[in-house]
Amino acid sequence: MTEQSRVENVVIIGSGPAGFTAAIYAGRANLKPVVFEGFQAGGIPGGQLMTTTEVENFPGFPEGITGPQLMKNMRAQAQRWGAELYTEDVTFVDLSQRPFVVRSDERELRTHSLIVATGATAKRLHLPGEETYWNRGMSACAICDGAMPMFRGVELVVIGGGDTACEEATYLTKFGSHVHMLVRSNKMRASKAMQDRVLNHPKITVHWHSEAVEVVGDGLRLTGVKVRNNQTGEIREMPVGGLFYAIGHKPNTDLFKGQLELDEVGYIVTRPGSVATSVEGVFAAGDVQDHEFRQAITAAGTGCMAAMLAERWLSEHSLAQEHHVLAQSHPEPSPAAAAEAESAGDPAVEEASFEENGQDDLDFSKTCHEGSYALRRLYHESDRLLMVKYTAPTCGPCHALKPILNKIIDEFSDKLHVVEIDIEKDPEIAEAGGVTGTPTVQFFKNKALVAQLVGVKPKSQYREVIQANLC
Ligand SMILES: Cc1cc2nc3c(=O)[nH]c(=O)nc-3n(C[C@H](O)[C@H](O)[C@H](O)COP(=O)(O)OP(=O)(O)OC[C@H]3O[C@@H](n4cnc5c(N)ncnc54)[C@H](O)[C@@H]3O)c2cc1C
Repeated sequence: MTEQSRVENVVIIGSGPAGFTAAIYAGRANLKPVVFEGFQAGGIPGGQLMTTTEVENFPGFPEGITGPQLMKNMRAQAQRWGAELYTEDVTFVDLSQRPFVVRSDERELRTHSLIVATGATAKRLHLPGEETYWNRGMSACAICDGAMPMFRGVELVVIGGGDTACEEATYLTKFGSHVHMLVRSNKMRASKAMQDRVLNHPKITVHWHSEAVEVVGDGLRLTGVKVRNNQTGEIREMPVGGLFYAIGHKPNTDLFKGQLELDEVGYIVTRPGSVATSVEGVFAAGDVQDHEFRQAITAAGTGCMAAMLAERWLSEHSLAQEHHVLAQSHPEPSPAAAAEAESAGDPAVEEASFEENGQDDLDFSKTCHEGSYALRRLYHESDRLLMVKYTAPTCGPCHALKPILNKIIDEFSDKLHVVEIDIEKDPEIAEAGGVTGTPTVQFFKNKALVAQLVGVKPKSQYREVIQANLC
């Protein structure tokens, strides 16, 4: 069958708990699902849990599990059952014709059924000053950025009164000298347990009836936030070194406007007790259709429902093409698993394995290195283009970036030196490098900084920088 004439049984958009659970169920039903994992639109591959540390409430992990590890496991399980994964954003869907059309920048697929699991994205207030100070003291992910040197030992502010705000405020007490929470009314939406935790924490102060109206700084970094008391109207400036938004999420449904029924806030409307949408053969799972529970387990549960309903719908319409998949005991390693294997020194990914360098053992023939000693030596002595990756162990986007960068590093391995700096281990290096968020990738040529890419960028951007600066 040619690529053009092929019609998929089911395409899944999204790679959070909803998307991967749907993929596992559809894979086990011999439907060979195709998953668009996403890349930048509406979050990152692996979804929101890539931005958290411990997940303590997902059943089956009595000691808890980190968000990135949980998503890595789900991904591997989906692959084991034959899911075809593309780390690409879907940019267009046409649900008015059958089969449906689903398009990314790299490919266009036709599919009999569709599962939408695009989740939700953190909201921002877009305050005056925000454009200037975004990533220079402002963030929407305390778990990702809280360990940055700029946030250590200074007063911080968290905006929001839900569970996320409480979790983030508590997490930030590890780094900041004090954490202020701005809550718009006289009560919080957070669970009682979370409220108790912040209200009783000696390093957290909750400011009721308080709204941020502007962020201020010295041109380089945020130095404070103007806060209005919405009862008295009084505005005062609170001197803080960091501001974190925790004000909820917007469902990622722009692609479906005018094609699927959405509620007034943009969530996909599903039939009561079901995950069927307003278009037959299209199902919605996870946070994209759930403004009430928004948990990993409910997302996974609705992902399961979506796959089972898709299977039922395909067989009722005699559309299912079965692909018998034997569970792969050694599925192709996921990029994340490969990345993990790297750090364990797996010879299969030797080129990308990082050297933890001692004081006098720097091997210049190797491409990848780690830590401040390697950075100092390579900065002064390398005759190759130097790529410096700043990461943090708790930063989900760093995990998402790793396999992407490894592919690029493989392409240019003998022309590059790469040093990874863990900002928790080497905060002073990050500070000296002017790094304000993770992941950040800097490129140095002949000791001069020639480019800096902050966040997870398309592979092509890293490639372009390298090609333009090869020595
Ligand atoms: C900081 C934090 C901590 C949390 N802690 C917990 C916890 O401890 N326990 C718990 O149960 N829940 C927790 N949650 C909530 C939980 O993460 C979510 O409920 C869950 O991730 C929702 O899963 P989902 O699959 O619906 O969507 P998401 O996880 O949001 O995933 C959406 C996916 O869709 C993809 N996507 C979006 N647009 C496109 C597109 N155009 N093309 C392709 N792909 C696209 C994204 O890349 C992403 O992969 C936490 C959330 C946050 C933010």
